[in-house]
Amino acid sequence: MTQEERNSGYYHEERETASEEAWRAYHERRLRGLAEHAYQFAPAVTALFDRAGVKPHEIDSLEALQKLPVTTKTDLARLQAENPPFGGFLAVPVNQLKRIFMSPGPIYDPQGKSNGFWGWSEGFYAAGFRAGDVVINTFGYQMTPAGLMFEESLLDLNCCVIPTGVGNTETQVKIMKDLGVTGFVGMASFLRKIGQTARAEGLDPRRDLSLEIGYVAAEILTDSLRNEVQDMFGMQLHQGYGTADCGCLAYECREAAGMHFTANAYIEILDPRTREVMGPGEPGEVVVTLFNTTYPLIRFATGDLSAYTIEPCACGRTAPRLTRIMGRVDQVTKVKGMFVHPQQAQGVIAKFPGVAKFQIVVTRENEVDRMLFKLEMAETPGAGFIEEISQAIQDGIKLRPELEIVAPGTIGEGAELIVDERTWE
Ligand SMILES: [Zn+2]
Repeated sequence: MTQEERNSGYYHEERETASEEAWRAYHERRLRGLAEHAYQFAPAVTALFDRAGVKPHEIDSLEALQKLPVTTKTDLARLQAENPPFGGFLAVPVNQLKRIFMSPGPIYDPQGKSNGFWGWSEGFYAAGFRAGDVVINTFGYQMTPAGLMFEESLLDLNCCVIPTGVGNTETQVKIMKDLGVTGFVGMASFLRKIGQTARAEGLDPRRDLSLEIGYVAAEILTDSLRNEVQDMFGMQLHQGYGTADCGCLAYECREAAGMHFTANAYIEILDPRTREVMGPGEPGEVVVTLFNTTYPLIRFATGDLSAYTIEPCACGRTAPRLTRIMGRVDQVTKVKGMFVHPQQAQGVIAKFPGVAKFQIVVTRENEVDRMLFKLEMAETPGAGFIEEISQAIQDGIKLRPELEIVAPGTIGEGAELIVDERTWE
């Protein structure tokens, strides 16, 4: 199949290309229905509304949702432990579910009986998966939902699925070769490992394997890893973003310039501390209200840090896009009002191979935050290095750093990437 064929069309054209007004009307209609339904059938949601002094009919706009508190993953684990198995969020009897999973936490994740429960199909379609693809699904099929969650959408698109699960790289190579596998689902780092195994066996993954498309999730996909894997196999790689509790939340289109919000949820980006609603380009926590009548999580804080854009996308889809996932909220440090995350800093520093190690030290003097990048060099820096890296950090993190080149061995093995030495009296 040509890339052009894979890159054209929509899974649900009307919904994916809706005007801003239609998009808002659709979301507000779903939200109103959800509030009424969840209040009636999910005791934890009833309690949440009552505590906030809000009646379901008052949730009549996207903005009105802000009247309700946020539920964190920690809250969910606690509520489930107090009131097993689902903490009162389940809106159907347990024995009416299709499947029940258990994720680390521990958290129970329900799957309802409706088709497309996890909502990944439009993401797979946008990534180029089509009927007739033969796909290895390398996510786990036990306890956690990942394997079956993705399989459902592959079957929905009439792909043939080989449930290979985790590990066994040599067997994965054999299967790919014997069965003419065209699609991969799993983690990008694992696909690279499969490619390396194939090469070690004397195969050329581009010539001897038939991989054309891949869908990756569950880890942060750097540009360098994406490029390396795409080049290794001569394939297109796309990523999606979701969680075990929520299913698909956002997915890449052919442009691979951010991940479009799913129409199955309303997504907000909130300041992790103040819960203030953030605008386009402002980093914050991904908070989800699932249009799910089985498991209606309302303002569920995922713990993931991201930002979104409303710039038009050349693919024609109109939903806003998460620009990228920057890491976990609990690892973030706020410096001069900006969030700084270890992964974000790593992404910037990775562009300078001459830097062997780095560490950020945050201090506060005279009520002003200071951010010092300590750099251990693998090679003597050339002229202009300080200027270039300083600019790159400013572009990537939106803060002007102080820089110090330190002697090799100064930054200990496994040291924290961000050390916050501020004291707050
Ligand atoms: Zn797009």
